[in-house]
Amino acid sequence: MAEPAFPMASSNTPEPEVRLGAAPGPAAGQPPRPGSIGELIATQEEIFCDRQHESRRLAQRAGLALAGGVTSSWQITRPQPVWLRHGKGSKIYDVDGNEYVDLHGGYGAALAGHGHPAIVEAVGGQAALGTHFAQPTPAAILVAEDLTRRFGLPLWRFANSGTEATMDAVHLMRAITGRDLIIKIEGCYHGHHDSVQVSVCPEADEVGPAHKPSQVPSSTGIPRAIIDLTLVAGFNDLDGVARLLDENPGRVAGMIIEPIMMNAGIILPEPGYLAGLKELLHSAGALLTFDEVKTGLTAGPGGATGVTGVVPDVICLAKAIGGGVSVAAIGGTEEAMGHVAAGDYEMVGTFNGNPLAMAACRAMLCEVATPAAYQRIEALRQRAAAGLQREIERNGLAAQVVTVGAKGCVVFTAEPVRDFRGFLGIDDSYSHAHWLYQHNGGVFLPPWGKIEQWLISVQHDEADIDRLVTNFATFAAALRSAGVATGSGRPAAAAQPPASKGSAEAQDRLMTDL
Ligand code: PLP
Repeated sequence: MAEPAFPMASSNTPEPEVRLGAAPGPAAGQPPRPGSIGELIATQEEIFCDRQHESRRLAQRAGLALAGGVTSSWQITRPQPVWLRHGKGSKIYDVDGNEYVDLHGGYGAALAGHGHPAIVEAVGGQAALGTHFAQPTPAAILVAEDLTRRFGLPLWRFANSGTEATMDAVHLMRAITGRDLIIKIEGCYHGHHDSVQVSVCPEADEVGPAHKPSQVPSSTGIPRAIIDLTLVAGFNDLDGVARLLDENPGRVAGMIIEPIMMNAGIILPEPGYLAGLKELLHSAGALLTFDEVKTGLTAGPGGATGVTGVVPDVICLAKAIGGGVSVAAIGGTEEAMGHVAAGDYEMVGTFNGNPLAMAACRAMLCEVATPAAYQRIEALRQRAAAGLQREIERNGLAAQVVTVGAKGCVVFTAEPVRDFRGFLGIDDSYSHAHWLYQHNGGVFLPPWGKIEQWLISVQHDEADIDRLVTNFATFAAALRSAGVATGSGRPAAAAQPPASKGSAEAQDRLMTDL
């Protein structure tokens, strides 16, 4: 078993009594009842609630003070929200004293793990020197220079969340071109501002024909007039984008896309797709923005841009770049960001480039997300992918493992998924059941079933990955003994290859880059 790469930060927080994960499986040692996936879920939800009385008590009290009893609607997990006390290294601890290997990673932000000494020192040191000035501090230059080396774009600005970054990117594309329309991909999430709250996770009866996806509002409160400005194409569908550009000559400002889709499990771009998009858009006088809020630093040191080699006009970063502190970055070409420099588009915000955030970013980039850390993560990625694939095969599940860098997921379908339509057909109950088995077994995967992925931090070790695989083995065996086929509803078929070939090749390229 590998030693943790970093000494653990000392903490004055009193250590609560810690319980490791209960053996996942049915209550009171009874064998799983044959039957539906629903029965497995019901049993696991019972175990889940039994382990979390204090969380339930807090949730009830919170309901009187916090709207919906949580601080973001995505914290409402089923069967009940999990209230946390603290995190340390690769682990998090809930208010009931349960320990989890943290593969949730705060929706992909905790690449540094918890209490990483470099982040603690940077944030603590800066806090003593002042937490806010609304004037630039030298760390901002170091951060921008490092991002340029990683992502190949020369000019940067900062913001506070992924939503702000993609909002600025959309504004910028419109400001530069003087055009109103943008294109986004069906099934991509880019935050909660109006222009991108379109066709994020539409229902099957809303999506329209695959060659001409409908523009479906993804939230209440978004004016129809704004939704009409956001055109929708399928992922990996170059023809769809060409058609939209042809149908709207001189009217499309640009396109925003997750270069590797990560709000629909993980869906990889097909060879030539991203380069083809850039060419199509440029020939129509439009711009290309990569939303690397999730993939930046986690797909590799230079994000999906580094993995695929396609450099867009604008890149949005957030989540992992701040080492757990709220921050975002927008990078662009001389031409694109020249409009910001010239004041044609004012990119503003009281907290932009906040010194605390810049100190955390600098530490994250220069001391945490190092070549050695990526090598360590790559070894753990391989261990996870191989272990999960072995259990898929052993139990004859119709499922596949998809991984890129620090991110990965099990997709419960035999068919490779190439776009949102393929993802839509996957039965989410298998991912929810998997989440419950992992949770009850002491591994905190991100909630929201088939949508999300795990994040391996720089502080995870082999024992953490082995806990993930062991829990999955228990789940897979329960599925098999319950006679429950996965995903597509057809009988369990021969397993698909591990971590898709595309991602393995991407990994190879990535390691060569290092
Ligand atoms: N873009 C992507 C790809 C995301 O996954 C998210 C959040 O999950 C966002 C943008 C929005 O980021 P934030 O939640 O920091 O506003």
